[in-house]
Amino acid sequence: MPAVDPERARLFAVDVVRRLREAGFEALWAGGCVRDRLMGLEPKDYDVATDATPEQVRDVFGRRRTLALGAAFGVITVLGPAGAGQVEVATFRRDLGYSDGRRPDRVTFCGAREDAMRRDFTINGMFFDPLAERVVDYVDGRADLARRVVRAIGDPAARIGEDKLRMLRAVRFASTFQFTLDPDTLAAVHGHASELTVVSAERIGAELRRMLVDRNRRRAVELLASTGLLVVVLPELNSFVPSVADCSAIDVSAAAWQATLAILDHLRTERFSVALAALMRAAFSPNSGHPPDLGLVCRRLRLSVADHKEAGFLLKHEATIRAARSTPWPQLQRILIRDRATDLLELARAIATVVDGHTADVDYAADRLAQAPEILNPPPLISGDDLRPLGIPSGPAYRRILDTVRDAQLDGQIDSPAAALALAARLAAPQGDTP
Ligand code: ATP
Ligand code: MG
Repeated sequence: MPAVDPERARLFAVDVVRRLREAGFEALWAGGCVRDRLMGLEPKDYDVATDATPEQVRDVFGRRRTLALGAAFGVITVLGPAGAGQVEVATFRRDLGYSDGRRPDRVTFCGAREDAMRRDFTINGMFFDPLAERVVDYVDGRADLARRVVRAIGDPAARIGEDKLRMLRAVRFASTFQFTLDPDTLAAVHGHASELTVVSAERIGAELRRMLVDRNRRRAVELLASTGLLVVVLPELNSFVPSVADCSAIDVSAAAWQATLAILDHLRTERFSVALAALMRAAFSPNSGHPPDLGLVCRRLRLSVADHKEAGFLLKHEATIRAARSTPWPQLQRILIRDRATDLLELARAIATVVDGHTADVDYAADRLAQAPEILNPPPLISGDDLRPLGIPSGPAYRRILDTVRDAQLDGQIDSPAAALALAARLAAPQGDTP
């Protein structure tokens, strides 16, 4: 997809409203874009709400410039000019029946006020008229935005009961914006937390990702834990998350959990796998008995293979980085030349800072990582092809000899192909094989 320029996107979103109005319809910006603008943030995208039906929207903008993938829910996508992105134009609607706990069974079209009422939180329930520059607020969203509160529209228990995904959205908005959860909304999330399982794994995984890549990830995890959502999303953490009741108890597990939160707080990266590793590390602690299967966690939440591999790499090696100075260089080098070494150091630094304040080893690893590539990772002196003339059959011995030669090179004991071959020949000699 071509890059979207925020200014062009905004002008196009104004234009969409203007053209609907000129065609005799009501049209307003709606939801997240209104909230973001009132907060002084750049909206990621613009949604327009209108009393025009999907068919009428397509007539106004032409079939070629519209997509009707969401037409069953009253949503038409209007494609903008180059760099302007696209605008979702949704017919004012009320949602009817939520028998699956996630999506309305059907929708009927209505007016703006009712359309505001079906939205999740007051801060997400406002409209804006970009031609008159006027906020249209049926739900007291502006007051809650000023108070920095996430509050369900209408009866929190009913609204959360009808669509359980709203629980995760509530936590995400509260954490990423550093808002509080309105007490009744919080109580409703708490009361329905165990029902989150009806939401698809993809959606849960996607929400978790958005919370964890954000710099306020600690707050997100705290809220997930205190509402009871965390152990539904990640049951592997069950015995490590203090229940709300014993949060004040000063026991080992509570201290370990506080450390996990502090580590999340220290991370200065937007990389999801790093935050995931920091969080899952709680369950991988030495006294955890059977550490969970990270692959299983990732598959369950439909996270990518790359996420799984990265988080696994980070969890496997962070302790080595925190002991870098007492780790043999060939061993450390093989870790530092891996793709995500910078992330690994980031995680190790956050853990070291929290666990014992001992970051000198991480500094040492960082210095080593900063070396010129030809020093950090010099080309091997010999390859497998060089072993064949020595009569070494391929097999485990082959790999062991190459590894030993490589260790000697990295340790500075040999520095020429001739010396490497001589060492390989010595290692291959029969007496070298006696146990
Ligand atoms: P962001 O895009 O930053 O996640 P957003 O508020 O724009 O925030 P979207 O998922 O893009 O969120 O949805 C747009 C609007 O649709 C929301 O602002 C809200 O009014 C409404 N909405 C979205 N999801 C729900 C839901 N699960 N229940 C009720 N209303 C919703
Ligand atoms: Mg949005």
